[in-house]
Amino acid sequence: MDKILVIDDSPVQGEFLRSILSENFEITICQTGREGLLTARNGNFSLILLDIIMPDMDGYMLLRELKASEVTKYIPVVLITSLSDVQHEEKGLLMGAVDYITKPFSPVIIKARVKTHIQLYHYQMKFKAEASVDALTGVANRRRYEEESVIKWQSAIRFKLPFTICMFDIDNFKAYNDTYGHPAGDKVLSAVAACISSRLQRSTDFFARYGGEEFVALYVGDDATPTFEFMKSIRQAVEDLHISHSHSVSQWVTVSVGGVTHIPTAEDSFDTYLKIADTMLYDAKRFGRNQVVWSNANKETWREKP
Ligand code: GH3
Ligand code: MG
Ligand code: MG
Repeated sequence: MDKILVIDDSPVQGEFLRSILSENFEITICQTGREGLLTARNGNFSLILLDIIMPDMDGYMLLRELKASEVTKYIPVVLITSLSDVQHEEKGLLMGAVDYITKPFSPVIIKARVKTHIQLYHYQMKFKAEASVDALTGVANRRRYEEESVIKWQSAIRFKLPFTICMFDIDNFKAYNDTYGHPAGDKVLSAVAACISSRLQRSTDFFARYGGEEFVALYVGDDATPTFEFMKSIRQAVEDLHISHSHSVSQWVTVSVGGVTHIPTAEDSFDTYLKIADTMLYDAKRFGRNQVVWSNANKETWREKP
């Protein structure tokens, strides 16, 4: 059942809305703006019904706060008010409310509008989720990676944490497609993505398809040496899938891995580190594929197969 948050300083009004909607929705009522804001942040609501005139924090102030936060900005807000002039309605809609209903209202109309807005909200969320997932492998796509890299990079700078960029590239994959066919190649991409992503499940880990047969991981919190060791175990896990590949460096499908671990400062640029990771990947290919090559962005590099 979808959850609706009603924020209204009048208990009578709140209970009236509950009586109209509780048959189809789970209703939570808050009587102040502050309580409403906190509840909205923690509650997984599909819609907010918001009164404009309230003491302390009014509906407009609250609407601004809701729209400013990543957590609450997608929840549709319907303003309910006795202010029936055009200016107030314009202001509310311009600030991001999806609808504006004036008192006294008809229960049938409230129900119908609430239903429509909740339906649209679900479409929007579904679309948003699909837009960030790679259709073939089901892992995050390049677009999501672009967003996530900025967030993770900035938080590593702020908390002075080691930050890792790691690139994976399937070895001799063109030959795989040529030998076994493109549909078989697609299956390999999915299997390799699932194998790697299942090993990157901490809340600070991020894994995405970078493009073609390349993947990228962002990894926060561990130093270069343990991260290098961990990536070696992931490389091995891909080889241990034992997917036959007659035209590669081993008899199985393998990946080459290149990465860099570094504690970034505000003067550093993400792109510089991405380039280092890319160079390490290039070296892993050059040194014979199916191996991990690592850097700490200073002078030190590590090779799995010297
Ligand atoms: P290397 O070991 O140097 O990485 O060689 P490679 O053959 O893997 O690299 P190359 O860049 O020459 O070829 C990449 C191949 O990946 C070519 C392309 O057809 C294949 N590929 C890219 N995206 C897909 C996809 O979505 N499905 C399939 N089946 N193949 C793909
Ligand atoms: Mg490639
Ligand atoms: Mg390749």
